[in-house]
Amino acid sequence: MKIIDNIKELKEEIKNLKGTIGLVPTMGALHNGHLSLIKKAVSENDNVVVSVFVNPIQFGANEDLDKYPRSLENDAKLCDEQGVKIVFAPKISEMYSDEKNNLTLICPPYEVVDKLCGKSRPGHFDGVCSVVAKLFNLTKANRAYFGQKDAQQLFIVQKMVRDLNFDIEIVPCPIVRESDNLALSSRNQYLTQNDRALALNISKALFNIKKLFLQGIKDTRALVDVSLKIMEGLDVEYIEFVDKNTFNFQTEADRNTIVLIAARVPESNTRLIDNINLWDEM
Ligand code: AMP
Repeated sequence: MKIIDNIKELKEEIKNLKGTIGLVPTMGALHNGHLSLIKKAVSENDNVVVSVFVNPIQFGANEDLDKYPRSLENDAKLCDEQGVKIVFAPKISEMYSDEKNNLTLICPPYEVVDKLCGKSRPGHFDGVCSVVAKLFNLTKANRAYFGQKDAQQLFIVQKMVRDLNFDIEIVPCPIVRESDNLALSSRNQYLTQNDRALALNISKALFNIKKLFLQGIKDTRALVDVSLKIMEGLDVEYIEFVDKNTFNFQTEADRNTIVLIAARVPESNTRLIDNINLWDEM
């Protein structure tokens, strides 16, 4: 496995690869959620490239860019164990020659970004789409693997690929959870013990919604009300029901629904996101 930090060398290596290329874009601090994407990519492609890049242009001014966990050595070891061919871990200056406001960016339409995470994180999805597009171009990947944990991101990347005719298949991968159902996230490292206990109520609320839905309750207002009780003590940014095909909000849940939550836990002020779909069986 090669660890590459510059674009010139990456391009050379990519040129020399034979067969299909699978790309797994990450910000590092790899956990079992990332590893599930990497394993799937390794099983479906001749070559796998994992990018490890804490992308500054997808962070807002008051967000956690500086303290975001970084552990390249361990990430590279994990990738090597899975049979990854290339870890691409560039410096910021290698990816961006200028400040964000002086770069050509890919900006998804207002309709899909002015809601959910995009609403509280203005410019976030411009940063995501722009870095993902660069990685698609640089790696010439045939497939790219994205987690359903970041459901809005996945939807927006799929839309970008359709709208701009990228010649790449986007492969969605299921959410990986701890045994107590907390969704794995690099940001879980920030959680204090109290925070972690409270954070569990996010997935508890989601699984409860699914249970109630399967019992016949479809009114989203009723489902939100019980969920907010379960999540007392958390600062809930949003709890929304969207149609998986359009990401339009719903007032009645159905078999196409994704329920999404973003909430902050009080002690570490960590912002967590999670979601559940109402079409898979429990
Ligand atoms: P990140 O490093 O947080 O940018 O995540 C990189 C990729 O891993 C994204 O496609 C995420 O959706 C995915 N991912 C992160 N956490 C999980 C998880 N718990 N289960 C599945 N995929 C995940």
